[in-house]
Amino acid sequence: MFNEVYDVIVVGGGHAGSEAAASAANMGSKTLLITMNLQNIAQMSCNPAMGGIAKGQIVREIDALGGYSGIVSDTSAIQFKMLNKSKGPAMWSPRVQSDRMRFAEDWRLLLEQTKNLDFYQEMVSGLIVENGKVCGVTTSLGVKIKSKTVVLTNGTFLNGLIHIGDKNFGGGRAGERAATGITEQLVNLGFESGRMKTGTPPRVDGRSLDFSKMVEQPGDVNPEKFSYLDTTKPLTHQRSCHMSYTSLKVHDLLREGFDRSPMFNGRIKSLGPRYCPSIEDKINRFADKDRHQLFVEPEGWNTVEYYINGFSTSLPEDVQFKALRSVVGFENVKFFRPGYAIEYDYFPPTQLKHTLETKLVDGLFFAGQINGTTGYEEAASQGLMAGINAALQVQEREAFILKRDEAYIGVLVDDLITKGTEEPYRMFTSRAEYRTLLRQDNADIRLTPKGFDLGLASEKRLRRMEEKHGAAEKFVQFFRETSVTPDEINPVLEAKNSAAIRQQDKMFKMFARPNISIDDMKQVASVSEYIETNNLDGEVIEQAEIQVKYSGYIAKEKNNADKLTRLENIKIPANFDYSKLQSMSLEAREKLTKIQPVTISQASRISGVSPSDISVLLVFMGR
Ligand code: FAD
Repeated sequence: MFNEVYDVIVVGGGHAGSEAAASAANMGSKTLLITMNLQNIAQMSCNPAMGGIAKGQIVREIDALGGYSGIVSDTSAIQFKMLNKSKGPAMWSPRVQSDRMRFAEDWRLLLEQTKNLDFYQEMVSGLIVENGKVCGVTTSLGVKIKSKTVVLTNGTFLNGLIHIGDKNFGGGRAGERAATGITEQLVNLGFESGRMKTGTPPRVDGRSLDFSKMVEQPGDVNPEKFSYLDTTKPLTHQRSCHMSYTSLKVHDLLREGFDRSPMFNGRIKSLGPRYCPSIEDKINRFADKDRHQLFVEPEGWNTVEYYINGFSTSLPEDVQFKALRSVVGFENVKFFRPGYAIEYDYFPPTQLKHTLETKLVDGLFFAGQINGTTGYEEAASQGLMAGINAALQVQEREAFILKRDEAYIGVLVDDLITKGTEEPYRMFTSRAEYRTLLRQDNADIRLTPKGFDLGLASEKRLRRMEEKHGAAEKFVQFFRETSVTPDEINPVLEAKNSAAIRQQDKMFKMFARPNISIDDMKQVASVSEYIETNNLDGEVIEQAEIQVKYSGYIAKEKNNADKLTRLENIKIPANFDYSKLQSMSLEAREKLTKIQPVTISQASRISGVSPSDISVLLVFMGR
């Protein structure tokens, strides 16, 4: 059935697998996507939403490089919000509420239109490995398929075990079977594996809810979108979410099920996502809180199904039901599906290189939840990077690695492979030390040229970015070069309680004042004329405004990042023998031996490696 040797086989059609398959195929690699159920391509296992704090930046980065997640997030969106708009632009984070079914359908249709990509529905049960190199996969039906590289993106499916109260059963996700065979083989090959846990809330029938008792949460008045391409459009109408709260009564009802809770009776042993705790975890850990927020999120444009964000639980279904009926607006609630928790295997990501290729088996890449991460965006970005690097390896081209000052994706991969993770890893803005550089508005400027060089981002994408960037730079230059007289600017400054000027000054200095916005500057005739004459759109104006207002911070971070690059450039020889560095701490020697960092900079980020350990290393290397 499969006579040819594929360049890349991607195992799993979730968020990681879909991006991996798309990127490898779009870069010209003959690619096969094997997944257990072709009906569930890019299925949203948990919340019907993409983006959010730090995750929205990741989706923009994927789009800038030429991935599909941003496009699909736009075409399947039912609501858009730019989170954190009251804070500085480094914190602005786009988020959409998605039509769950349309998201999966749009992904599948996009993949079907992708050249060089074949599909096959089956469970991969093993890898073909010869002389330390992967050569293909075998399936549960015994089909052997050859390839030069394999990307594993098994998500929550490896030996997945679903828990609802005191019941548990094998499964990769509700209604889908678990994947077996792969973990056992990888462990035999010398890989270390672990267990993690995650959970999801019940889904309910919207017709049984009383929304008049809840607080409406509409989308933005002027919604934006994810993709930098103009093929997707901002929403012209949106669906609202709603908000309600738990109460002490709800908490008491939930507590009644604690003795049957797999979380508390020791049946679930693995760690779950710290920042996405179950409702039982919340009322247990924050016993002093008398209520918790619940967001009632529609699952699509037309469906009556709703997702109860904030009520993730693995308590028995009768307890879930009784407690939810006591929430305001939920008095007559009907369940579509109960919440549940799932435990699954993952592989500590310190076993990977920066390319997401495993250190143990050549040509074998891991991406997504299998690496101990949580979230669609984290998974999708790893899939993109693994797909790109698998294709590059086959084409014998240089690996593609993003640095920490270039992209959140760079921070994510570097954190994973350098520090590892013992609990499900999710991205936060605080994880990025250069977040002023890594904004959602400039992901195209940062990354589209790289995506184009890879053969992934289209020429159209590159041209759009160049036009936007060029126009914004010119507008900033206009502010630098143009002076403004007291007569022109003082009325604007006075209206904002900003000190008046006595003699003419540069427009840039006025605009850079913290409480002066572009709308204020537009009151100066020359500014509004410039905008009109040059036909500047909102994106260009916003970009110029950020460049003017945050130029000091941006310059400072660039300077710090340049210092890092100098350290980054000091390479450590492969298989370096740290045992001979007796003046280095034992812990540092052990960690460095395990991780085998590629550069001094990476070594400095390993937990347990102190600045003095780095000095020892630098002295040894003659620096
Ligand atoms: P998945 O989306 O899980 O996709 C894996 C794919 O691989 C599936 O299509 C599967 O069929 C296929 N597959 C697996 N093994 C094989 C095999 N051997 N052969 C062929 N195909 C295979 N994330 C959050 O951020 N917050 C949450 O609160 C949250 N809660 C969750 C709750 C539950 C119950 C579940 C199941 C997931 C939850 N997630 C949550 C995680 C989120 O769904 C994942 O982070 C994301 O889907 C990971 O993407 P992925 O591509 O790595 O894997």
